[in-house]
Amino acid sequence: MSREVSSVEYEPVIGLEVHVQLLTQSKMFCACRADYQTAAPNSRVCPVCLGLPGSLPVINRKAVEHTIMTGLALNCRIPSYSKFDRKNYPYPDLMKGYQISQYDLPLAVQGHLDLHVNGHTSRVGINRVHLEEDVAKLQHLPSSDGESYSLVDVNRSGVPLMEVVSAPDISSAEEAQVYLTTLHSILQYLGVSTGNMQDGSFRCDANISIRPRGSPEFGNRTEVKNMNSFRSVFLALNYEFERQRRVVESGSQVVQETRGWLDDRNVTVSQRSKEYAHDYRYFPEPDLPPLVVDPAWVETLKDQLPELATQRRTRLMQDYKLSDYDASVLTASRDMADYFEAALEVQPVSEDARDRLAKSVTNWVLGDLSRLLNMDNTLIGDSPVTPPMLAELIGLVDSETVSVTLAKTVLEECFNTGKSPATIVGDRGYTQINETSSLVPTVLEVLDSNPKAVDDFLQGKESAAKFLVGRVMRTTRGQANPEMVNQLVAAELESIRNNQSAKS
Ligand code: ADP
Ligand code: MG
Ligand code: ZN
Repeated sequence: MSREVSSVEYEPVIGLEVHVQLLTQSKMFCACRADYQTAAPNSRVCPVCLGLPGSLPVINRKAVEHTIMTGLALNCRIPSYSKFDRKNYPYPDLMKGYQISQYDLPLAVQGHLDLHVNGHTSRVGINRVHLEEDVAKLQHLPSSDGESYSLVDVNRSGVPLMEVVSAPDISSAEEAQVYLTTLHSILQYLGVSTGNMQDGSFRCDANISIRPRGSPEFGNRTEVKNMNSFRSVFLALNYEFERQRRVVESGSQVVQETRGWLDDRNVTVSQRSKEYAHDYRYFPEPDLPPLVVDPAWVETLKDQLPELATQRRTRLMQDYKLSDYDASVLTASRDMADYFEAALEVQPVSEDARDRLAKSVTNWVLGDLSRLLNMDNTLIGDSPVTPPMLAELIGLVDSETVSVTLAKTVLEECFNTGKSPATIVGDRGYTQINETSSLVPTVLEVLDSNPKAVDDFLQGKESAAKFLVGRVMRTTRGQANPEMVNQLVAAELESIRNNQSAKS
């Protein structure tokens, strides 16, 4: 029997739930500051977020705005009537014994997100975007007597949390990854979240089921939690797809359950199989008024929507004649695109010069600068080489003050010391040698001391000329104008050849 079944080809069906901490000054329902990450444990607390009886929540308007803006950017409808509900469940990190969330009337519904995967576009439905509050943080520690104990840090309790729920329209782990990076980029451009996955500002739960390819029906799904990078979501989905396929092919049924991803072992394990029987006893939050969302307010927010990555990519291609690839990479992060444009705006230049400058800035940003930033684990927004410094360096190369080779050394030094490129070139004496008169003696000297290479060249070995050029560059510590050295070496070799044939 299993042989028959295994001839069936299966496809995954994936729906993602993403929790996003919103960037607000204060928490969701109280005046405590939301900067819980850097604050000392339990220093951002009040009766509301501690869940003390008698305290009353107040809605954070900024968090509602962030959620509506996200909804708009995800092509959602913003209903004019929304409300908060209580989701009841007991857990030590849930201070009130319930979480204020949204159940049947979320702030945004029925949207979609277009993804660019391998050169084609696919559309993923957005079921809803709603607003809730984060829970406190538990820390489990071993104690000296072999038992363990837990500490509670309430700082995170009540931090605004937005949830974006996709339709089950995603059909591969790769597409899931593109969905996440695209959503992440939108949040970054909107400025509604840091989107930092490591510190938990952007958390993804992945629902996945499998079905015979082309079948209209859904299978039982599992929900995978605990993934803290885009890569682990990708790995977990592929793992879960294979696991479910084996279950089905062995003639069994996939159990609907919550599973956890173990990063160190690259597997998912069962966590709670009864979760779906959970009754959260949702009911409208009695301590908060319903949220009436004025359409005029929504229009105002729509007008305030910033340019997003897709639009910016198109604009950069048009304005600066960038390739699709360059523009895509530059706009993947808002900070990188900002850096790029800042470097171009340092000085007003002609259109022609600006396109050339755009190409140079792109090459430096995507090449050497990115390499230095990665090695140093620094974000481009914090780059010690500022946009004006990079523009200055490019200017030094363009005016032939410094060779491209040495410019890389200058960039590195600029990165490490924060000194301006012009200062470094001056201090180090990196100025390019552009005068024939100062180069000719060096060329002659190098040819003199490398008779074997000269001989090789005369015997027809062209590459010997390159070797000699390299020697000249080395002797001048990279300062010689390489173009000029090429010409001088070629001319000198030619004249030796002519002399020889005249003699014979
Ligand atoms: P619940 O109310 O139990 O949370 P939802 O209908 O809201 O369930 O779905 C939660 C997530 O699971 C959504 O992202 C949805 O796309 C996804 N999902 C639902 N059914 C399936 C399925 N059969 N396979 C994969 N994902 C699914
Ligand atoms: Mg859910
Ligand atoms: Zn508080």
